[in-house]
Amino acid sequence: MDRIRNYIDGKLVEPVSGQYLDNVDPSTGKVYSHTPDSDERDVEAAVEAAAGAFPEWSRTPVAERSRVLLRIADLIEANLDELALAECVDNGKPLSLAKSLDIPRAAVNFRFFATAIVHARSEMHATDDVAINYTLRQPIGVAGIISPWNLPLYVFSWKVAPALCCGNTVVAKPSEVTPMTAFLLSKLCQEAGLPPGVLNIVHGLGRKAGAAIVAHPRIPAISFTGGTVTGAEITGVASPMFKKVSLELGGKNPNIIFADADQDKAILESLRSSFANQGQVCLCGSRMFVERPLYDSFVERFVEETKKLRIGDPLEKATNQGAIVSRSHHEKIMRYIDLAKEEGGKLLCGGSAPKATNDRCKDGFFIEPTVMTELAVDCRVNREEIFGPVVSITPFESEDEVLRYANSTDYGLSASVWTSDVGRAHRVARDLAAGTVWVNCWLLRDLRVPFGGVKNSGVGREGGDEALRFFTEPKNVCIRVPSS
Ligand code: NAD
Repeated sequence: MDRIRNYIDGKLVEPVSGQYLDNVDPSTGKVYSHTPDSDERDVEAAVEAAAGAFPEWSRTPVAERSRVLLRIADLIEANLDELALAECVDNGKPLSLAKSLDIPRAAVNFRFFATAIVHARSEMHATDDVAINYTLRQPIGVAGIISPWNLPLYVFSWKVAPALCCGNTVVAKPSEVTPMTAFLLSKLCQEAGLPPGVLNIVHGLGRKAGAAIVAHPRIPAISFTGGTVTGAEITGVASPMFKKVSLELGGKNPNIIFADADQDKAILESLRSSFANQGQVCLCGSRMFVERPLYDSFVERFVEETKKLRIGDPLEKATNQGAIVSRSHHEKIMRYIDLAKEEGGKLLCGGSAPKATNDRCKDGFFIEPTVMTELAVDCRVNREEIFGPVVSITPFESEDEVLRYANSTDYGLSASVWTSDVGRAHRVARDLAAGTVWVNCWLLRDLRVPFGGVKNSGVGREGGDEALRFFTEPKNVCIRVPSS
């Protein structure tokens, strides 16, 4: 059985403890490989390697850093099939999704930041005739990166690439639930000629390996994507140490459909925004609000289309809905479905866990795409992040009412608005408490735009210039202009 190893100082190494965790394929429920159960000793070795590599990497010409990252992007593309299969087996998502979205996007992330750094600019401020100020943007040192399981290589590369292109060295920990693609990436980094120690990948549990990264005194910056509770714990440790922290956290995103929307497009895209990756995308719109005149026909058609989604073996081409990532997450989602019933929800479709999709997947963790109505806007199911294929639909009468509903949770990651009224689109976008508002679309991503959330969905922004800012420290140099 495959054994994942840590990537430290350019080498693939066993964890110091010699201990491993089981790595389960959620579509079969079976252990298929083992992941290092690393602890603070492995993190210490990784920090040592990263700190040792920093002086040279930070002074490596930008063009050379860019070339290495471009080579990594090329290698990800050249190994698309292997990486997509690994992600599918690790995560349970349909192979077609991993192949068309997750893995290509990881290559794009490396390419985007490899080229962005070549075009990076810094500022100059002339102070009357007295002085010239210029800003040096310098890498921070060893950056700590911690990522979640839902988009394993996609989010991991979204953080690693900007950190490296800016000249930082990195100690990174992928989720212990989906470690395989990061392991394969470490091999590609070796092949691409990334110098030893520049990127170090330590696998293991959040409370052990992750916590050791957060608490390490020689790691001055932490970039984290994951749950809100974990984000709060990380802040509690990192803030008193005055670390720079970026937190991309959970969401409970509204998907608002006005009666003047193009109904066909709204239904098609809402299917995606509700159930893509089995609803396990932080940006999924789990709360749908439909304007009253459209409500009955929209709900009827949406349910009809939901029932057509094919749940099954993620390896099969026709599958739209793969497995839920783990047994414990599966149990959590099913508890929320029970809670929705207790809270007065009406189940229109889904709600159960199919036992078998084929013989190979008979013990997999599957849940039917689930649509509920008649839940109070302020009930727990409508306020808490479920992170699964469960949506609740609520009617509304006016713009003011739906804004109140949409903004009523503690989260503020993203929102979608469907309308053909341009004025309304701008007004509602302005008044929604969210880091991203999509109008007549969902998950249309431009990597240059700021990405992140408000309220309990996070602190700081990623993407384009924001990421380059996070992974550098600005230093002002003020030069007096001598008077003649
Ligand atoms: P999680 O918070 O359980 O784990 C995320 C990572 O943090 C994992 O690598 C884990 O090992 C590590 N970790 C856990 N406890 C830690 C600790 N005490 N110290 C340091 N590290 C620790 O989240 P998850 O279940 O892997 O991912 C799902 C969550 O991620 C959802 O809430 C989802 O909304 C969120 N998410 C947000 C975004 C975004 O961009 N805002 C993107 C993807 C996922």
